[in-house]
Amino acid sequence: MAAQTEESDCAREQTKAEQDVDQVRQRAARDQQRLDSGAVTSPKDLENLQREIASLAKRQGDLEDVVLEVMERRESAQERVAELTERVGAVQGKIDDATARRDAAVEELDGEAGSVTKEREVVSGSVPDDLLKLYDKLREQQGGVGAAKLYQRSCQGCRQELAITELSEIRAAAPDTVVRCENCRRILVRTADSGL
Ligand SMILES: [Zn+2]
Repeated sequence: MAAQTEESDCAREQTKAEQDVDQVRQRAARDQQRLDSGAVTSPKDLENLQREIASLAKRQGDLEDVVLEVMERRESAQERVAELTERVGAVQGKIDDATARRDAAVEELDGEAGSVTKEREVVSGSVPDDLLKLYDKLREQQGGVGAAKLYQRSCQGCRQELAITELSEIRAAAPDTVVRCENCRRILVRTADSGL
C-alpha cells in the first residue's frame, strides 16, 4: 500500500510538473507570436519581449528536468509495486494452499470422530454400568485416559513400572477382576504382553 501511495503521489506530481511546462510553453508561444506579428515596434519593448522569451526557454528547460526526475521516481515506484504485488500473490497462494489442507484435515477428523463415537457407543453398551461409571470418572480426572494397557510390567498411562507385590496381586486376580494402577489409579488392561 505504501508503494502504491508513493506511485500515485508521483503520478500527481508528474501531472502538476507537466502542467507547469505547458503554461510556460504557451506563454513563450504567445510572446513569440507578438514578436513575429510586428505589432511591437518600440526597441525597448522588443528587447523586453526577447528577454522574456529567453528566460521562459530557460524556465521551460528547468521544468522539463523536474518532469524527468519525477518520471524516474514514478518508474521505480511502479517496479516496486509490481514486485510487491507478485510477492503478495505468492504468499496468498501459500495461505490458500494451507487453508485447503486444513479444511481437508478438519473434514477427515470430523469423519473419524463420528465413526469413533459410534464405535464407542457399541463398546460402552457391552460394559457393565458401574465399570463404565468408574472409567468415565477416571477419564475425567486423568486427562481423557481412564484405562491403560499393562505392558511389560509398566502402566502405559503413567509409564511407571509396577512394584513386584502389585504385579503378584494382579497375577493372582481373576480375569474379570478390575485391576488398577497403584500410581495413577487408572484401570489396567491385561494382555499377553503384560509381563505377568
Ligand atoms: Zn499408572
